[in-house]
Amino acid sequence: MSPESAPSPVTMDKLVSLCARRGFVFPSGDIYGGINGFWDYGPLGVELKNNLKALWWQRMVRERDDVVGIDSAIITHPRTWDASGHTDNFSDPMVDCRACKKRFRADQLDDAGSCDSREGSSEHDLTLPRNFNLMLQTRIGASEDAAAVAHLRPETCQPIFTDFKRVREVARQKIPFGIAQIGKAFRNEITPRNFTFRSREFEQAELEFFVHPSERDKWFAHWLAERNRFHEELGFARESLRNRPHADDELAHYARSAEDVEYLFPFDWQEIEGIHDRGDWDLSRHTEYSGKELSYTDPDTKESYTPMCIETSMGVDRTCLALLCNAYEEEALDEGEVRTVMRFVPEIAPIKVAVLPLSKKLAEPARELERRLRRYWNVSYDESGNIGRRYRRQDEVGTPFCLTWDFESGDDGCVTLRDRDSMEQERVPTDELVERLRERLEPTR
Ligand code: ATP
Repeated sequence: MSPESAPSPVTMDKLVSLCARRGFVFPSGDIYGGINGFWDYGPLGVELKNNLKALWWQRMVRERDDVVGIDSAIITHPRTWDASGHTDNFSDPMVDCRACKKRFRADQLDDAGSCDSREGSSEHDLTLPRNFNLMLQTRIGASEDAAAVAHLRPETCQPIFTDFKRVREVARQKIPFGIAQIGKAFRNEITPRNFTFRSREFEQAELEFFVHPSERDKWFAHWLAERNRFHEELGFARESLRNRPHADDELAHYARSAEDVEYLFPFDWQEIEGIHDRGDWDLSRHTEYSGKELSYTDPDTKESYTPMCIETSMGVDRTCLALLCNAYEEEALDEGEVRTVMRFVPEIAPIKVAVLPLSKKLAEPARELERRLRRYWNVSYDESGNIGRRYRRQDEVGTPFCLTWDFESGDDGCVTLRDRDSMEQERVPTDELVERLRERLEPTR
């Protein structure tokens, strides 16, 4: 069989259904009807997400001597959010429909649909916009008083700023240097939507890179280029990715420049990452609110200054969603057959290799091969159904390579290696397998 026609475009319905059916992502609390804005990642989804986070950490932290990592608490001192401006300003304008009681973001009324509770009109009967703070509140300990109120962090970067001095000192870093973190963030979004795109609980992978004021433009350009290279490495089609600089009236009041990395989702171009020049806003505010000096004195020039900060902020879930959209393809084969194939690049594919014995009678040596390969990669074993159907099952979850142990394998010491994308098959000696697979599976940069 040979691939013969152009791919069908992915729709959200198809993707959501595949994600649930194959265990990538599905609603949290599904047996109770789900809970709006919260999602669970299944066995394949968690592998995809972990691979994305591991690659980010590798490129952003481990391969650089000017970036170190942290893992901070989700709940931190409430003053943090006063200083950052979230307590007063982290809000979306919200309107209510007096008739159907639904709540909408005032700036997203195009998606409000029609009202089904009014007689003689399908238009919503909207209140005036009110500001709605997006931070999720909780209480600490048994006390009922107001002092026990805390918030789940709405972004992972603020603890980086409050830890800035200690981390710089313990890591013995000089400016320029950066602090990275991957972790959960929470926002009480008014209208979660588009699958995982706008959730109430999500993960961010963020870098705050601290620089001398004279070097902020240079480092902004550096990080924009680095982050574009990362997204290319993830296998995004060039035409479905773009940079969108923020217009002056979109910029936060403290920001000098900001540029989004946008992906062309089935529903629209939307942001998956932001690169921001945040100036010295955060460190200055935390100095003001905590009374602790967070400026820096250059050990060589003795100049004292508050470093400027260039931020890269990637949404892990949004990037996973973009990866799922990007990978999905329905490919028409000979004789009217269609296969669904997820064309993940090997680095992020949830399963790297599947071992398939041609018959259940060959389970023992095939299991032995599987155990050997599991030391290196996430490997799946499947012995049920005909071999064509088993290939399709692996294609549908994006496994780059299948290995078939057949009746010859015991004698000639070879297995059939089948490539997901070309569907080509070749015989490979088992003692060369690890090396041959490594060449094709491991990152090249
Ligand atoms: P948006 O305008 O779409 O709400 P934002 O500009 O508020 O996003 P940032 O505060 O810059 O987003 O957050 C950085 C990244 O975190 C975003 O690029 C996005 O990938 C991710 N992110 C933000 N909000 C959500 C959310 N509700 N659900 C999933 N990911 C999110």
